[in-house]
Parts: sequence; structure tokens; C-alpha cells
Amino acid sequence: MSEHTLAELVDVTRTYGGVPVLDEVSVSITSGVTVVVGPNGSGKSTLLGILAGAVEPVDGEVRYAHENGADAGKRIGYLPQRVPFRDAFTARETLGFYAALADGDPDAALADVGLADAGDKRVAALSGGMRRLLGIAQATLGNPAIAVLDEPTSGLDPAMRERAFRAAAARANDDTAVVVSSHDLDLVDSYADEIVVLDRGRVAAAGSVERLLTDHGVENVTSLFRAVVGDGASAVTDAGDGDSDDGPENGDATAPESVHVAGVSDR
Ligand code: ADP
Repeated sequence: MSEHTLAELVDVTRTYGGVPVLDEVSVSITSGVTVVVGPNGSGKSTLLGILAGAVEPVDGEVRYAHENGADAGKRIGYLPQRVPFRDAFTARETLGFYAALADGDPDAALADVGLADAGDKRVAALSGGMRRLLGIAQATLGNPAIAVLDEPTSGLDPAMRERAFRAAAARANDDTAVVVSSHDLDLVDSYADEIVVLDRGRVAAAGSVERLLTDHGVENVTSLFRAVVGDGASAVTDAGDGDSDDGPENGDATAPESVHVAGVSDR
């Protein structure tokens, strides 16, 4: 691994019911902001879940540069697509729970995502956008080497999308990677250093934004997406995105996603 490579997926395959949803995918995660784009069902969430240690590959492996063995996952923050935060806790109490595990400061984390004034609000009283920001704060608490954020902007209005993306991207530096899946290609243009384009479980293109735009002779990520994925590009608008995270069911700690909730995986 080069010094800025923080993780590598090597020939990773994941199947559900025998059907491959990721098919021999190899990706290097370097410091900076990596955005995973692709049509719905192309495997983005599965790839992020595997990187975060929440989903097991059936073949291939994930290598982490920052640590070896069982503790590797502790340096990874993870925002799953739906976060089962408990409604009755305040934003500060919610982060306090994760802070105890990840050695972070709840108030600093709230301030980082622009929620400094919302610390005493109960999760139930937060808007969908604020809940998403709280999720980003949770996933970045304790400065993990890799923060994995699954669609941190889904279901948000344009201003909130920008704010959420900016807050997420701000966590990246020379030693830290932020890996985000997103359908907001204009924001990807603004904030991504690297892009992974997935199409039907395979990597259709990957590399620095600059290089990919040059290689494909296009001016922005939207055009790149069309050039690489072709007809599948229509799915990127994600019109049927019904995964808004502010429904009442998401306060339910028994939701299946609750197994993914820990900002620090034990793997
Ligand atoms: P994306 O995030 O790009 O929309 P996903 O990784 O969520 O893609 O899903 C890729 C494919 O895998 C989809 O066809 C989806 O239905 C399937 N899939 C994902 N998770 C599961 C699961 N837990 N059980 C069965 N099929 C799944």
C-alpha cells in the first residue's frame, strides 16, 4: 500500500441468495474524499457496508492500513443508510453514548456539523436533515481513520444537502478518508477527490476526479456518469428514494439496521 492508501478491497464478492451484488470488486481507499456513485441497486451500500465491516464478503478481502487484526474496525466510523437513534435521547446524549466508545467529544462533534445549538433537543424533535447531521457527527466522532457515510444527503433539501456534504468532506485530510455514497452529482463535483462508479456490482470507473474527467473528455461528474454507465444514468435521479430517515420506525432500536449502528465496528 502507498502511504496514503488507508484500505483496499481486493476481489471482493458479495452475493444475496446466490446472486452477486458485488462481483470481484477491487478498490483502493486513499486519504481525502471518495464518493461512490452508481444507479440504484449497483451495490453502493453493500460496498460501504463491507468497507465498514458491517457486511461480510463471501469472497475476497478487505485490508486496512491503519491497524491490523481485530481492532482495525475501531478506526472506522459508519453512517448506515438508516440510523436507529433513540427518539427520547437528546442529540448530546446520543453522541455521548458513542463518545464513550470512540473517545470523542460530543459537543465538539455537534459543533463540527453545525448542531451546536441543538445539543439539548431530543432526537424525536430533530428534522430529517438534523438527524442526518447527527448521524454524520456520530460516524466522525473520535476522528476515525475512515468515515464511511451511506447517502448522508438523502431526503434533504438542497441547502441541507450542501451543508451535510460539506460537513462530511471537512473531516477528510492527509491521514483521513471520508467515503460517501451519493446521488448528488453536482456536490460530488464540488467535494470529491476520488470517485468510484459502480454499475451492476462492478467497478465501471475509479480514480481521481481530475483524471477521470480528462480520460473521458467530459467537464463534470454528471457527464462522466452518463459516459460510463450509459442508459443506467436515468436511475441516478433516485426518484423513488423512499429511505428518508425521519420516519417514526427509525427510532426503533429493533430495526434490522440496529446491528450496524455502532460507529465503531468490532472488526
Ligand atoms: P445501492 O446502494 O447501489 O442501491 P445495494 O448495495 O443496496 O445497492 O444493493 C445491491 C443489490 O443487492 C440490490 O439488488 C439489492 O436488492 C440487493 N441487496 C442488498 N442488500 C440485500 C439483503 N440484505 N438481502 C437481499 N438482497 C440485498
